[in-house]
Amino acid sequence: MTERLFLTDPYLAEAEACVVGHTPEGGVVLDRTIFYPAGGGQPGDSGRLDWGRGGLSVATSVKAEGAQIALVPAEPQTLPPIGTELRQILDWERRHRHMRMHTALHLLSVVIPLKVTGGAIGETRSRLDFDMPDAPEDRATLEEHLNLLVDRDLPVSEDWITEAGLDADPGLVKTKSVRPPRGGGRVRLIRIGQGEREVDLQPCGGTHVARTGEIGALRLGKFEKKGRQNRRVYLNLEG
Ligand SMILES: [Zn+2]
Repeated sequence: MTERLFLTDPYLAEAEACVVGHTPEGGVVLDRTIFYPAGGGQPGDSGRLDWGRGGLSVATSVKAEGAQIALVPAEPQTLPPIGTELRQILDWERRHRHMRMHTALHLLSVVIPLKVTGGAIGETRSRLDFDMPDAPEDRATLEEHLNLLVDRDLPVSEDWITEAGLDADPGLVKTKSVRPPRGGGRVRLIRIGQGEREVDLQPCGGTHVARTGEIGALRLGKFEKKGRQNRRVYLNLEG
């Protein structure tokens, strides 16, 4: 299993690691990584690996067999041999935008408190699909509410509960299409705000900013009808 450094510290942009394997598809497996693997609507991280006599560009990162994470080279090339000690470096600008957008989607699910049926995160534009038969009436108010949550600069923190605890409280799961990350009998929860000021709590395995103020100004995009029950809502980062 690859140690997921991005869960304990999403702000790590560089870290040392050791190559522990290669996948049949030509990916590099490290003992520990800062590269988030594509999943839950968030794209895999890109960046590069540097070692003694070589280096390679990482195009993306994906989940591999046995809870491992595979870093996918941008071009076919000789991989660093198993046992190589190397430095991993994220395309931090891109990842940080994903963190801002990802946290913004949690806020979108606060201002539109309906079941989420899908979603995708991009660098400047993201979307959530809602179980929403009727279009919302006041878009301007929704956008204002979103930006107020950003301006309140609420802390974003993580918590863990047992799988049994989650099963006993199914209301915590807002997203029907993405199964919450589980493992070792525990599920990770992301909380926005604290105590009386808590605005959101949901299972999530993604990367988030530390405070909502870091997201910056948000603009609601178009609402698209997707079938009888669903609406796709776009969200844009202004800066
Ligand atoms: Zn999340």
